[in-house]
Amino acid sequence: MSALFKIAYGLYVVTCNDGNKDNGLIVNTVAQVTSVPNRVSVTINKDNYSHDVIKKTGMLNVNCLSVKAPFSVFENFGFRSGRDCNKLVGIKVNRSANGLAYLSENINAYMSLKVEDYIDLGTHGMFICSMTQQKVISDDETMTYSYYHANVKPKPTDQKKKGFVCKICGYVYEGDTLPDDFVCPICKHGAEDFEPIS
Ligand code: FE
Repeated sequence: MSALFKIAYGLYVVTCNDGNKDNGLIVNTVAQVTSVPNRVSVTINKDNYSHDVIKKTGMLNVNCLSVKAPFSVFENFGFRSGRDCNKLVGIKVNRSANGLAYLSENINAYMSLKVEDYIDLGTHGMFICSMTQQKVISDDETMTYSYYHANVKPKPTDQKKKGFVCKICGYVYEGDTLPDDFVCPICKHGAEDFEPIS
């Protein structure tokens, strides 16, 4: 399986609107799949509220995060659900022509997508989209998953704690053994995504 870790991914905030409020989530699953006609695929876990919203509305914006995006962007959009909160409170946004929000900072481009096709992948839904609008915002480099892990995610503190660190968000569990059914309180990933602090 480890060859899969050699595939490079970018990180994106996908924004949508359920008719009452804006929502957004972090995905690493945006890809241009064809050029004539231009089609972009976005794959979203069905557990995410945004999946249901986009399936219903057929509209989304892809916000391309730049390397300047701080950890707080990932905490806000990645580690909680839009079912329980409004993730856009206090976030500076602009509106694209489709009426949806896009982030006014921390991105190097955005694109407005219209869903043309939907592929049911079991746990996930893949939206095949055409592009209705797009704009480059800055020349900053795109945030990749490996850049996030190397430079954005908090490191375990310098003082030597004994325990396990979440590889996804950096949360530290203090203790000699990590329970098998442990779930990260920050990002909700399980014990398999923890590693011992060395
Ligand atoms: Fe975590």
